[in-house]
Amino acid sequence: MQGFDSEFVFAAEDNDAPPVDNARPLIVLSVDDDSAFQQSLRMALSSYRFHDQRVQLLTAGSATEAARILAETPEIALVLLDVVMETDDAGLRLVRSVREVLGNAEVRIVLVTGQPGMAPMKQTLERLDISDYWLKTELHRERLHGILTASLRTWQEIRALARAKRGLQLVVEASNSLARTKNLRDFSQRVIHEMSRLLGVAPDGLVCVQADADSPLAARLIGVAGRFAPLAMQSLRHIDDARIRDMLLDALENRSAVEAECSQVLFFEGAEHVPPVAVYLATARTLDETERELLRVFATNANTGLINVALASRLDQMAYEDALLAIPNANALQRALDSVLEIAGPRDRALLLFELEQYAQSSLALGIEQGALLLRRMADRLRQVFPPPCLVARMHEGIFAVLGPAAMLTDTRVQRVEDEDATGAAPLIGIVAARLDLDGYEGSPRRAMASGLLLLKRARQSGAGRMLEYTREHERESQQSLLLSHRLHQALQAGGIHIVLQAQFELASGRIVGAEVLARWHDAGEDIPPARFIPVAEATGMIVPLGRQVIEHACRALARLDAEGFPDLPVAVNVSPLQLQRREFADELMAAVARHGVRPQRLELEITESVVMEDLQANREVLGRLRQAGFPIAVDDFGTGYSSLRYVHWLPITTLKLDRSFIEQIGRIEDQRSSADMIITLGRRLGLRVLAEGVETAEQADWLASRRCHSAQGYHFARPEPLDALIRRLRG
Ligand code: C2E
Ligand code: CA
Ligand code: CA
Repeated sequence: MQGFDSEFVFAAEDNDAPPVDNARPLIVLSVDDDSAFQQSLRMALSSYRFHDQRVQLLTAGSATEAARILAETPEIALVLLDVVMETDDAGLRLVRSVREVLGNAEVRIVLVTGQPGMAPMKQTLERLDISDYWLKTELHRERLHGILTASLRTWQEIRALARAKRGLQLVVEASNSLARTKNLRDFSQRVIHEMSRLLGVAPDGLVCVQADADSPLAARLIGVAGRFAPLAMQSLRHIDDARIRDMLLDALENRSAVEAECSQVLFFEGAEHVPPVAVYLATARTLDETERELLRVFATNANTGLINVALASRLDQMAYEDALLAIPNANALQRALDSVLEIAGPRDRALLLFELEQYAQSSLALGIEQGALLLRRMADRLRQVFPPPCLVARMHEGIFAVLGPAAMLTDTRVQRVEDEDATGAAPLIGIVAARLDLDGYEGSPRRAMASGLLLLKRARQSGAGRMLEYTREHERESQQSLLLSHRLHQALQAGGIHIVLQAQFELASGRIVGAEVLARWHDAGEDIPPARFIPVAEATGMIVPLGRQVIEHACRALARLDAEGFPDLPVAVNVSPLQLQRREFADELMAAVARHGVRPQRLELEITESVVMEDLQANREVLGRLRQAGFPIAVDDFGTGYSSLRYVHWLPITTLKLDRSFIEQIGRIEDQRSSADMIITLGRRLGLRVLAEGVETAEQADWLASRRCHSAQGYHFARPEPLDALIRRLRG
């Protein structure tokens, strides 16, 4: 070891460089039981600098002591290790435990020994990631200098990589966390949290969202942490610290990040419908290049998260909000019902359903815009009469729902909806309502809504009272529907369905120009009305075989009429959507008329307006095919659906059946009469036959004739009757 001291004269690498105080020193541990070596090493290192960083030397006289120091000081960059100490292999054993027990893969290790011939195997060096092996005698000044510089550089690179890797891992985790946020507030809180986690600092910062492009000072502090907590939901101008306020303003105005010594401001652009966001975080120290790079990656990811938030809330809005009225929709109601029905009870909640019948007629007569106006008034009115905690939602078309405390959803209040409001606007007329008490309700939310809608339909049909209450009665009815469906199934098998025909009259001449075929079911001594069994047949799909049997009966009736001397008289059959949807329908229909030797021109198909309008494009094709084959096509219940008259000429139809509700109003409400008038006029202009349904009085018939309505059907002229009776009537 002689001459060792003299060789260990380390010169500082650059004497002129100013000392950097805040840079943490690099730590080197020398492990050697040779105190003379330790002493000279210490002297040499006192003036050594790695770039502008000082080197701090720790020393250990044994492997055991070294192990303790290494465990306590994970920041050690380099270990200069004597192989032979307490035992021949003490040095290697120490390295193994550093790598494998401490799991420290970063620290660089250089073996030194005083005795030649003690070199470990090459594989051992590699396996334990030992950088170098030197004889103390070889360690003259330049060589030691080179070894230190190379090892420390490698250590820094490894450290930077490991940190970047950890940082990226954090960025990925942060992005995942941000992507899960549902709203801006949640997003904002998480951004601060994730950013401080990434930098390993305490969360102390704020997030401001600039909703108004022109006034950054009004930007809202949506996310707050640390000392900024009291500023939640305040605006940017309320930040006391002028420096912080200016940094944020700077970021928002220049649309870029701002760095300061002990704090950072990130800027997120946002996107269309997403306001820009600036995030301030106190870091309490200067960030290094790696950290700044990580922040840039983080910012990019966070911006994507922000856009997702906006999309999600937009989607949420679209999913739960009525696009026209910007009030909750059917989905929102169902969600609310979910949480009401979740509780076992007593729930003290009720559901009200309203239908504004005026809507359909008004959109029809005055256009979609007028209809929308009416809906808006209805929504306003409902919210006025049923204030929070009631939830007012629009289901579809002119149907609204109110969910709220049972005590608030009273008849008196329902009545008030129709009353004149303070604005003096015309009262909303033609409102029907249904009420369902949810207190003891046992079905699902879907079922509650379906029951309510069914009840509403019934309220509309009955017309009386205009408000129906859901009772056990209805529960029993749905049970009975099930029983009915079994009976209907058997009736269909046994051919128990027959038909009656209702004559249709040309108004100008009084001649019979056709007849509507109506299904009848007589079972176990009672007549079951179509209003009961048709819905059951539709709900169970039995309408398909039922419809087939009716068509069969109709064709037979046509053949018979032919034989009785009425070869040109057509009949009309009702066709359900389920029948129309089937691909085979047109072929089956053509086969049926062919089998009975009747012309398709004599079998008119009646399709309900709402069905026709549901899938215009598809229906246009199907109807086009049927029309091409020669079948006349009538739109049934015309005027009750929500079609615009514009579509009528676009569809291959031959007849408009003016709904009974218009006829009922003749001589009662001016408005309705003008709708009927308009439909008649329009029909004529489009070359369509207009047939008025449900004509019960001479007055109605006269009025229709005066409006030059083509034909009519109703109790005033003839009731539905068996074919023989119709033939007798035809003979007159
Ligand atoms: P719809 O197609 O509108 O048939 C007209 C209904 O009005 C018939 O009731 C008829 O008896 C009734 N009606 C006729 N004139 C008058 C009148 O002056 N005043 C009043 N108040 N009512 C009148 P019905 O036979 O009870 O049928 C009810 C509904 O059942 C039909 O309404 C139709 O939607 C359906 N339906 C009947 N038969 C069939 C069928 O074979 N297939 C399908 N899919 N539906 C059918
Ligand atoms: Ca009909
Ligand atoms: Ca009808």
